[in-house]
Amino acid sequence: MEGQISIALKPIGVVRSEMDNPADVPLMGKSAVVEVFPEYSPALLRIEENSHLWLLLWFHQSNRSILKTVPQKVNPNLPEFGVFGLRSPNRPNPIALTLVHLDAVEGNRLTVSGMDAVDGTPVLDIKSYYEGDIIFSPRTPYIWALDPVMRRDMMIEEAIAHHQEACVGLYLAVRMALVADRLLGQLNTPDLNVTVTGSPCLADTLQGLTRARLANPARFIFREDESIFRSIWEKPGRRLTITARQEIDMETFAELADDMLLKIELEQL
Ligand SMILES: [Zn+2]
Repeated sequence: MEGQISIALKPIGVVRSEMDNPADVPLMGKSAVVEVFPEYSPALLRIEENSHLWLLLWFHQSNRSILKTVPQKVNPNLPEFGVFGLRSPNRPNPIALTLVHLDAVEGNRLTVSGMDAVDGTPVLDIKSYYEGDIIFSPRTPYIWALDPVMRRDMMIEEAIAHHQEACVGLYLAVRMALVADRLLGQLNTPDLNVTVTGSPCLADTLQGLTRARLANPARFIFREDESIFRSIWEKPGRRLTITARQEIDMETFAELADDMLLKIELEQL
């Protein structure tokens, strides 16, 4: 076929992990080691100056004939998507793009967290992650987890990636956002406006989860007040007000059901 070329790639290293079955890999990845082959060691010079790295891996166990799929691991009830609009491991060229945190460098061994590849996966390339890679409010398909625990864990992970500490304000923000996601649907959409009263940690986490900015366009309002913790979520025709019922206590509130912890009011406008 015209323009068609074949490419021979030589792996530069290999993943060393406790996981050897792709079905066991958690969605958020795990800690693992990237072993770079000795002939490529000079290419690691000053790599420790990076906190995060992009890894390009070859998912050798993938099915290369799949062009459309459902993100089964997250939710088998979701519609089908073309694999070029997903991060599915099954695709014509099973090149995986994985963002990892670089925890340690010892010689040609990189210890990383967030690895989603099994033991023995060939590594094609390693690149640094730059500030310029961040897009604060991308538009993405609404891929929501069927299992509420997975849904919560994915949201906590996303919240920590933004807020950078697992504090009480973050956990309260996640509880509120899970309610809003359940009652109003996808959160990071341009038609959502959010008003937060409470601590800077609550507000910062909710901003990270909703991607609503203070300006341009103004979709986020914050009033600092440590005596009341409230978030108001507005979408066309609907307003959801979520207020914490009590003093927030890290020890107890994870155990409380939504109705015990939060006063939830949904109005049709
Ligand atoms: Zn905090």
